[in-house]
Amino acid sequence: NSVFAHVVRAPEDPILGVTVAYNKDPSPIKLNLGVGAYRTEEGKPLVLNVVRKAEQILVNDSSRVKEYLPIVGLADFNKLSAKLIFGADSPAIQENRVTTVQCLSGTGSLRVGAEFLAKHYHQVNGSFIFFILFFLFLRTIYIPQPTWGNHPKIFTIGGLSVKTYSYYDPATRGLNFQGSMYICFLSCYDDFFFGVIGLLDDLSSAPSGAIVLLHACAHNPTGVDPTLEQWEQIRKLMRSKGLLPFFDSAYQGFASGSLDADAQSVRMFVADGGECLVAQSYAKNMGLYGERVGALSIVCKNADVASRVESQLKLVIRPMFSNPPIHGPSIVATILKDSNMYNEWTIELKAMADRIISMRHKLFEALRARGTPGDWSHIIKQIGMFTFTGLNSEQVVFMTKEYHIYMTSDGRISMAGLSTKTVPHLADAIHAAVT
Ligand code: PMP
Repeated sequence: NSVFAHVVRAPEDPILGVTVAYNKDPSPIKLNLGVGAYRTEEGKPLVLNVVRKAEQILVNDSSRVKEYLPIVGLADFNKLSAKLIFGADSPAIQENRVTTVQCLSGTGSLRVGAEFLAKHYHQVNGSFIFFILFFLFLRTIYIPQPTWGNHPKIFTIGGLSVKTYSYYDPATRGLNFQGSMYICFLSCYDDFFFGVIGLLDDLSSAPSGAIVLLHACAHNPTGVDPTLEQWEQIRKLMRSKGLLPFFDSAYQGFASGSLDADAQSVRMFVADGGECLVAQSYAKNMGLYGERVGALSIVCKNADVASRVESQLKLVIRPMFSNPPIHGPSIVATILKDSNMYNEWTIELKAMADRIISMRHKLFEALRARGTPGDWSHIIKQIGMFTFTGLNSEQVVFMTKEYHIYMTSDGRISMAGLSTKTVPHLADAIHAAVT
């Protein structure tokens, strides 16, 4: 008898499970819009030309060895990654108050950041009451509602307590920024109820010192981002309340096609001289999904704090995975430090972003041509890899059963999985699902 006989089968991951179901479907017209990975017009995975070139350079360099990297990873890669997200002229970098460590893609960077915060982030001013309060509000991170399904798990396992803040308004399929002033009559109480619940309200009532997870751009799963004016309001509010920003930057360059535009939110928070954390991933913007290449940067008040923070990050990483892989960051560093290769990358990156944006327009037009009931303008307003369609779980089940279209049950579709050829099929399915 197995000593593991009592182990119960775990449920499939809600996102990766979509692909499992898709793979089992024998239909020739099946369409996988679940997974968040770029596909070409032909529906094929893409390795960027500039990545192939960088790999060739690495292979031809006989001086390269496969020794372990240091605990914090490849030094060049870390420097170039900080420059990419904070900007080439970032004062925080020049003042040496940023520490960057290479981690296992975006997920690993968030995980290392979480564990570091759980161990070392104390908003204690020395007073006893503050100390008690600190334990009561134990290193809480506020994550948007909804958010990428892995966030709550990463932060909980990393040792933080997880709460949510309002983010998405299903009525407008846009940002729930101010909350909506609505009055409803509660017959059971014979009373009126005034409701104002929005992102700003929730962050205003978060306890001072709480950590707030922010999607730097292309919010997953909603595709809804704050405008620059709204970012500025969020920044002011967070700084005035002493809330600590933790940016998740998984789509830099992939949302708008511009690396700088997609880093604006992060740069606004760094420009005010305050502290923050940033988790970066090269999965999407360089197509390095399986290489697991990413970085965690912590912007500190001064160089001395930054170097002490780095020494503690090593203690988080060492027992977790000892040191990170060498191939992925070598590709990234080769591209980022050569101006020709860098330019080539930005062109290929923009082509991916543009193809996704063109799929948005094609799907929107196809629904309009069919006279599909409802307002579908959110398809062209939302940005990044995903559209949060507003389809409910029954409609999703219907589309899978009748049209062999696979997506997560919250109605999120990956625009990168669509092509000119498959848009009509999806539009037919959506039309049938809502009529
Ligand atoms: N954050 C968000 C919002 C994401 O969508 C993803 C990828 N789906 C990640 C982080 C991390 O991805 P990876 O670990 O592959 O870099």
